[in-house]
Amino acid sequence: MDASPHLLPQILMIAAAVTALTAVLVSGPWRALARLRLCSLGLCLLFATPLVLHALQGAGFRSPLPFTYEALNAIRAALDPWVDELAARHSRIAHDWGLWSWIAFVWAAGALWLLSRQLLGHWLLARMARRGDPIRDPRWSAALEALQPPSGLRLVASREIQGPLTWGWRRPVILVDPTTLERGASAEAVLRHELAHVLYRDWLVHSLVAALAGVFWFIPGLSQIRRKLLLAQEQRADEAAADAIGRTAYADELLALAVRPAKPCLALAMTGRRTDLRMRIEALLAPPSAGGRVHQSVAAALLTAAWLVLIGTATPPPSTASAMGTAALKRLAPVAAVQS
Ligand SMILES: [Zn+2]
Repeated sequence: MDASPHLLPQILMIAAAVTALTAVLVSGPWRALARLRLCSLGLCLLFATPLVLHALQGAGFRSPLPFTYEALNAIRAALDPWVDELAARHSRIAHDWGLWSWIAFVWAAGALWLLSRQLLGHWLLARMARRGDPIRDPRWSAALEALQPPSGLRLVASREIQGPLTWGWRRPVILVDPTTLERGASAEAVLRHELAHVLYRDWLVHSLVAALAGVFWFIPGLSQIRRKLLLAQEQRADEAAADAIGRTAYADELLALAVRPAKPCLALAMTGRRTDLRMRIEALLAPPSAGGRVHQSVAAALLTAAWLVLIGTATPPPSTASAMGTAALKRLAPVAAVQS
């Protein structure tokens, strides 16, 4: 991908706007599937933003109505004297390096820290799966066999966890804690829930979103979208299990797990957060409501339209394109030097 530094402010501004709008929209009273779709749309737009902006730039697209571009230039023009003054007034290092370089350094350090923590999380999960024992309890193995699991799936007992959880993509692992394991009657409910995660590749999506949240850590609202997405994934897995064994029976299973909530970490923990668990049980026992599909389509259309307007107005106008681009490039040169 072309890493022209003068697109960075546009990418960040559009990413922040898309995140904020998605966070507001997914806070609505949606059912799990609708929330999942809205979260996915917002995240896809977020991923697409740098790619589409670079493609537009590569194709020589010039905005006929460059609102976003001009708004950014106005913000930058207002900030520049302050940034220069701050850089000149403060320590020699700040002066030598420039404030934009410091900002890039802080971003890179934050992203590196968060992504390292995620790598550590993956390593800990792999270690837990290695240290665990294969489950030989006939009640669990019979229940798993009856559900026809995908090949490569492993069912492992682990003493290091508080509640059942799933992780892994190509060779998924379902880890079960000792207390749940003793309750053989829970096997079907737990396995149906965890297998729904495996079927929908929830862990892969969850990991990609975690990585995205690590890179864009400074954008407020992204962690909220991540949490809502996780909740919607849990609710979809709940629906799959509840449809098979009955809503009340499944809600009882969730309540039994609620006494020892597991930390979500990087795996998909069946209990997750206590507040989310309460919402999930309430949703299971609530009478099914009709409608909502039209509202969901309106919200999705609103989000897409806002993104298209931002993207379409973010490139420079035909007349000033090269001059402004060069000026911005010059100003952001230290940022590019740090990033490369
Ligand atoms: Zn789950």
